Amino acid sequence: MSDYISKEEVLSLWHMKLSDKEIYRAIHDMPPAEVRENTHGEWIKISPNLYRCSECGRVVEKDWMEDIQIDYPFCHCGAIMDGGKTE
Ligand SMILES: [Zn+2]
Repeated sequence: MSDYISKEEVLSLWHMKLSDKEIYRAIHDMPPAEVRENTHGEWIKISPNLYRCSECGRVVEKDWMEDIQIDYPFCHCGAIMDGGKTE
């Protein structure tokens, strides 16, 4: 997993009169920003009214007259249920 830093913290260095080495050190020492990589999944139909999350296996029950993609755009595991692949 990549380390992410805050764009705002990097830009705050802009106004300081720092040498290249000081800027490098300041960026190197920045704490990682709290970010979470998105996962993408899809609802897999396993019976006329049951769907399983492709990422965690959670099963949801839906009235088959409703649209699973509209009513459940996210799984409880955090996956974005757009049918896309997690990179
Ligand atoms: Zn899930």
